[in-house]
Amino acid sequence: MSHVTVIRNARHWKTGEPIDLAFQRGVILEGAPASADVTVDAGGAILSPGLVDLHVHLREPGQGSRETIETGTRAAAAGGFTAVACMPNTEPVVDNIAWVEWVRTRARAMASCRVLPIAAVTIGQKGERLTEMIALKQAGAVALSDDGHPIVSAATMRHALEYACHAGLPIVCHEEDPALKGDGHMNEGTLATRLGIRGIPAAAESVMVRRDVELAELTGGRVHLAHLSCSASFEGLREAKRRGLAVTGETCPHYWMLTEDAVAERGTAAKMNPPLRTERDRAATIAAIQDGTIDCLATDHAPHGEDDKRQPFEMAPFGIVGLETALALTITGLVRAGHVTLPWALQLWTEGPRRVFHLPEVRLAAGFPADLTLIDAEREWVVDPEAFHSKGRSTPFAGMRVTGRALATWCAGELTHADPSLPIAGRRSEREGAALA
Ligand SMILES: [Zn+2]
Repeated sequence: MSHVTVIRNARHWKTGEPIDLAFQRGVILEGAPASADVTVDAGGAILSPGLVDLHVHLREPGQGSRETIETGTRAAAAGGFTAVACMPNTEPVVDNIAWVEWVRTRARAMASCRVLPIAAVTIGQKGERLTEMIALKQAGAVALSDDGHPIVSAATMRHALEYACHAGLPIVCHEEDPALKGDGHMNEGTLATRLGIRGIPAAAESVMVRRDVELAELTGGRVHLAHLSCSASFEGLREAKRRGLAVTGETCPHYWMLTEDAVAERGTAAKMNPPLRTERDRAATIAAIQDGTIDCLATDHAPHGEDDKRQPFEMAPFGIVGLETALALTITGLVRAGHVTLPWALQLWTEGPRRVFHLPEVRLAAGFPADLTLIDAEREWVVDPEAFHSKGRSTPFAGMRVTGRALATWCAGELTHADPSLPIAGRRSEREGAALA
């Protein structure tokens, strides 16, 4: 079926100008027809290209009790995302073409957004033998990462970058010096000492950032620095850009919203890796977003079972969920707090990530894919983890009053999320087996 959907009374995400936009068969049309099969009255809401999250743990294969491709992408759609890149630190690790194909097949059947598999850099993420990177790219991998683990050996990282460069893929780096991290569980400092919790120094991250910047220069490979959290790391990325190297970086909402103080207040719901840092690092995160050092934002959505997170702090796993709060935390913590404009913040979830992974562009113009997010940037709501679509419930933002919400999400023209308040006249998009993967 190829009905026409038209969105009226929206505002363009960049210019704020009124915009009507129509699409059919997953592609944006030239102009908006007077009548359509489905009509959405946006009521002045912001229309943006669909949000993209380059750093999500969907936990499949193997850990479906924590999250599945189905539940994780439903959470993504509800959060305004039309594409997520999923990390390969599953059980088994996605380190061969069979598992990349498995993820894509599963996504085609179950997913509510595009699923872009990231394959491992080394077999079993053990940091030793390299994977078949060219074959992995041909199978559909968009990047390579041993995320969850650092690549400890500089020589292995060098060879990985050389090979990945050949394959035309970036390496997403989880930067952590294991010896410096030791058995730490939160940011190192006086608070950790007071709480009696072993600390992780910021240098555990930033020394590896510096190393991989040097290796990017040596090899010409593309390095993408995942979940940067501290001032020294942002400085390392800034310098790499000054030197004209192919180094990009992301940060996550919790690093601009919170400091290590949240550990004292929220316990294991504030335990993630890298850990929440100091007020100085939080300010540096915002500064790096403002001055363009940061290429894109990402959630590091990392769902865990409730029992896992209910353990004593040092026993509980690292990680929080993020897909259903990311947009609101961006509008609340960056835009309404006066640090950046709404278009600047949104490009870090749209154009930015697409550029980093060389994904097809999405513009609000004829011929582009109808991957769209309709945003009410004024809507206030209270974060309630029980209402999440994700199986993960652990978030330090539970109970927080936030502003900004995805009213509707379309992926390849298919309605994947709609707020009950949104007036939609006509037939709702039913699943047409459109290939989202
Ligand atoms: Zn990581």
